[in-house]
Amino acid sequence: MLRTELSWSHRVRGAMVLAACGDALGAPFEGREPADPAEIDDWMHRSTQLMRFTDDTACTLVLADHLTRRRGIVNEDELADELAREWTREPGRGYGQGAAQLFADIARGAAWRQAAADMFDGHGSLGNGAAMRVAPVGLLPGLALGAVAGRARRTAMVSHQHPQALDGAAAQAVATALAALSIQDTPLDADRMVAAICQHVHTAEFRAALRKLPALVARAASGADVAGEVGNGVAAVQAVPAALAAFLRHPDDVPAAIGFAIGMGGDTDTIASMTGALCGARRAEKDLPVMWGLRLEGASRVWTAASALARLGRPGAGAQPPG
Ligand SMILES: [Mg+2]
Repeated sequence: MLRTELSWSHRVRGAMVLAACGDALGAPFEGREPADPAEIDDWMHRSTQLMRFTDDTACTLVLADHLTRRRGIVNEDELADELAREWTREPGRGYGQGAAQLFADIARGAAWRQAAADMFDGHGSLGNGAAMRVAPVGLLPGLALGAVAGRARRTAMVSHQHPQALDGAAAQAVATALAALSIQDTPLDADRMVAAICQHVHTAEFRAALRKLPALVARAASGADVAGEVGNGVAAVQAVPAALAAFLRHPDDVPAAIGFAIGMGGDTDTIASMTGALCGARRAEKDLPVMWGLRLEGASRVWTAASALARLGRPGAGAQPPG
C-alpha cells in the first residue's frame, strides 16, 4: 500500500508541475509559425531565464484547489466564482478575449450558466480553455473513467458549453487518468488508449479527430504532419488531440514530448501544458528536468497545490488510490 501511495503522489505532482512547465515553455512560441526547432531547443534546454506561466496554469491551480478543498467534489457556482476571482487578481496571464469577458461578467455578478451559454452567438465556447485546466480531475483517486469524464464536464460547463469543448475536457481528463494508471517503460498501446478515451466523448467531430491518432503514431508522424491532420489551434477538437499525439509519440521521454508539442506551432502553451500533464502523470515527478523546476515561476505554489491534491489519495483521506 505504501508503495502505491507514494507512486500515486509522485504521479500527481509530476502531472501538475509538468503541466505548468509545458505551459511556460510553450508560451513564447504561441501563434508563431513555423516554430524554429533550434530556438525551441535553446529555450527548453540551455536557457536559464524565468519560465513564466499563463492562464493555463492559473486556471489549473484554481481547479486543483477547488477539488482539494471539496475532496474531489465539484461545485459549479463556487468554481465559476473562483475562476472569475483569479482572472480579476491577474488578468494579464494571456486569457482569450472570450474568457476574459466571461470572467468579467461573472465577477460583476452575472450568472455563469447563462453567461457561458450566451457566448459566441449562443453556441457556447468551443475553445480549449476547459481542457487546459482539467488535469486535476484526472488525478482524483479512485474514480472510474466514466466518473472522471462526468466530473470534467461539470468543471467545463462554467465557461465552455459547446459540446466539443465539453468533449475536450472529458477527453483530456480521461487521458490524464489513463496516463496515471499506465505502467512506465512498457509500450503504450495508442489504439487502446484512444479507444478508451473515445468511449467518453459524445460528438462525431471529436471522435473522428481522436481516431486519426493511432495511424499518426504508428508512422512516427512529424509535428507538422500531426498539425496538418488534427490542427493546432485554440479549438478543443484540435488542441486536445494534438497534445495527446505529442504524448503518444514520446510517452517515456518528457522533454521530447513537450518539444514535439511546441514544435507543432499554434496554441503552443496550451498544447504543451496538456502534453506535460499526460507525461507527468505517467513518468511522475522524477522526470522533471532540474532546470525547469528552478526556472518555473511560482514553482513552490504549484508544488504546494499538487501536494495537497495528491494527499486526497492517501489511505484515510476519504478515497483510495487506484491500482
Ligand atoms: Mg495560455
